[in-house]
Amino acid sequence: MTPGPASGTAVAAGARTVDRAAAGDGAVENLLELRSIRAGYDRIDVLFGVDLEVPRGSVVALLGPNGAGKSTLLRVAAGLHLPSSGDVVVAGRRVNGVPAADLARAGLCLIPEGRGVFPNLTVRENLRMMTHVGCGFDEVEEEAYHRFPRLRERRRQTAGTLSGGEQQMLAMARGLATRPALLLLDELSMGLAPIIVEELYALVAQIAQAGVSILVVEQFAGVVLGVADQAAIMINGRVARTGSPSELETELSGAYLGA
Ligand code: ATP
Repeated sequence: MTPGPASGTAVAAGARTVDRAAAGDGAVENLLELRSIRAGYDRIDVLFGVDLEVPRGSVVALLGPNGAGKSTLLRVAAGLHLPSSGDVVVAGRRVNGVPAADLARAGLCLIPEGRGVFPNLTVRENLRMMTHVGCGFDEVEEEAYHRFPRLRERRRQTAGTLSGGEQQMLAMARGLATRPALLLLDELSMGLAPIIVEELYALVAQIAQAGVSILVVEQFAGVVLGVADQAAIMINGRVARTGSPSELETELSGAYLGA
């Protein structure tokens, strides 16, 4: 898959723009930078000045216990939740306030916890919906089946009757149809058997090799560290440690290994 756009479409919100070509092919080193992000719900803060970077072409694992604020941070990055302070920078441009749909068009793709497929539609219909981003249906479908052969076998089946792993594959296929430069994955492993999780992470590694930058949230380190270049541990709304998986071995040898 070629990450990024077919053309250099720019999307705008007020004075701010995100150039799809910049997200896909630009020279900026960090595809995503979250700077001193504070965010919360109503008047209660859950993120307290979070800094995190996703270098172009890398896989970053964001780990931490339940309630640490990982999903909230992903939603801030995707433009679905406004930070109360701090900056979201995509391909070198500050994008605070840019609508999520525009960020998606610019090459950001969030696959939320819980998968986000349409359960009453078939696999084909779920994929067909993604043709609005510019590719023809045949192309979207063939690409999805090439990457996830199981989906071809299930193409006439409604998404709600798929196994959890197959639903996750469908969610990933739908996300990849948007030609993302940056993929935000929330709890890929949730509710899945270890063998399926391994299979999904092998696919994540393939997607990364094709040039897509990835920020992946997991509650337990486990298999995600096998594909991550960098990891960050988040606790109580703050990033407590960052480093390579081997540098974080001690911290990650306990609770977050999910043993
Ligand atoms: P988990 O793995 O359990 O999803 P997380 O690290 O992703 O945890 P978040 O889901 O970001 O953490 O939640 C951080 C805090 O924000 C938690 O205390 C949670 O209860 C709270 N929270 C999350 N979503 C909302 C919401 N829509 N309204 C109010 N509070 C929320």
